[in-house]
Amino acid sequence: MKSINPATGKEYLSYKNLKPSMIEGRIEASTRAFEKWRQYPFEGRAFKMRELAGLLEERKEDIAALITGEMGKLIRESRSEVEKCAWVCRYYADHAQGFLEDEAISSDASKSFVTYQPLGVILGVMPWNFPFWQVFRYAVPTLMAGNSALLKHASNVPGCAVAIEQLFVDAGFPENTFQTLLINSEDVRTIIRNKHVKAVTLTGSEFAGSSVATIAGEQIKKTVMELGGNDPYLVLADAKIKDAVDACVTGRMINAGQSCIAAKRFIVDSAVYDDFVAAVEKKMKKYEPGDPMDEKTTLAPIARKDLRKQVHKQVKKSMSMGAKLRMGGKKHAGDGYFYKPTILLNVRPGMPAFEEEIFGPVASITKVRSEEEAIKMANMSKYGLGAAVFTSDVEKGIRIARNRLNAGSCFVNGFVRSDPRLPFGGVGLSGYGRELSSHGIREFVNAKTVWVQ
Ligand code: NAP
Repeated sequence: MKSINPATGKEYLSYKNLKPSMIEGRIEASTRAFEKWRQYPFEGRAFKMRELAGLLEERKEDIAALITGEMGKLIRESRSEVEKCAWVCRYYADHAQGFLEDEAISSDASKSFVTYQPLGVILGVMPWNFPFWQVFRYAVPTLMAGNSALLKHASNVPGCAVAIEQLFVDAGFPENTFQTLLINSEDVRTIIRNKHVKAVTLTGSEFAGSSVATIAGEQIKKTVMELGGNDPYLVLADAKIKDAVDACVTGRMINAGQSCIAAKRFIVDSAVYDDFVAAVEKKMKKYEPGDPMDEKTTLAPIARKDLRKQVHKQVKKSMSMGAKLRMGGKKHAGDGYFYKPTILLNVRPGMPAFEEEIFGPVASITKVRSEEEAIKMANMSKYGLGAAVFTSDVEKGIRIARNRLNAGSCFVNGFVRSDPRLPFGGVGLSGYGRELSSHGIREFVNAKTVWVQ
């Protein structure tokens, strides 16, 4: 398994794959670890999580350089990612016990209550775009609930996968409580079918999600699916344009546009359309490619060559269907996988820029004539991960976010982001189930009813 530095196109790290014959032994080890770990009181688990948070902070510079080396994001974004992982460790160290407290319920019993018990070995299949954060946000609540975890990480970030396992070991978690398996996606099937593996969570594309959910479904095993999105950002006639543009461009350009909750479709009222487009263009022109390890660089490369090709194909096809190129629309020359910040205008239903997820620095803009049309266009999507609405009338923004938009997270006057305190997940082809907050930790537990005569 090799990683290629996307900024240079050169091999970065390489590891030996785990032999398929060894998978069963690793699952058995995880099962033994679960039996031990589930006996730990919450305070014991929380102590280890705080140790882990401390190690993340201590090793922040090395980890950040590893993330940037393997998948290309800007070094300051890698550092923030590591800090966020430490945050989620401490958040669940502080709150897991409260979230999973027994709940008394009055019934015909002398005593009846619900208790949240761990399930066992939980498999996580994770993507490369936030190679630490995605893993931590699944693994931390899963472990705090008393489960053990197996990680199948994306094949282009094996160094991150190995480093994460080492962190758990060094933080003093019992042996094999968290394990990384360096395997190909074909081997995921064997793991899901193993009787000791009780549930699976996948963050990735709808293709991977559908494949994993099908196998788990055959085995009647619980799944959580965190899939893609093409988040709509509604810019209404009364929006404060400067603030809206700042949020929209930041939301689109984080991680070179490779975020599931990136701002992807801008649906803009004709009253503010020209000003919005001009301001977005001015801001996007400032993103310059360079070495992502250099603090001054503003544009990171796309994580893999094949993914850049896919972005370009989606842009070209949208143009052939009538989208108008305002800027960009090209690869940057050189060995790295950089793609020019791109603005597509006249984006309409049917075009890839409207229907699909573009995982790159591409702003797709659609002009509308009313609030109702904006809402209709926003909901015209098979996805439903995030959405945002920009308006000076906050109450109206809340009404639209609450009642009208079909998405798992709807933000008013801000770009969509994940936060350990808030539930995160989607509807439609963006998946099901929730991560983070009290909702996330209750996905992989048995909500057991106890009834006493
Ligand atoms: P991906 O190609 O679907 O890969 C995700 C993970 O699934 C990787 O570990 C991959 O392993 C594995 N995988 C792929 N096909 C599989 C199969 N048939 N069976 C079992 N495992 C399989 O996605 P990606 O390119 O890494 O990530 C980008 C996608 O993730 C985007 O669509 C993005 O929106 C989504 N995402 C969603 C969220 C969310 O919270 N909703 C967050 C981040 C990203 P290999 O690398 O070995 O193929």
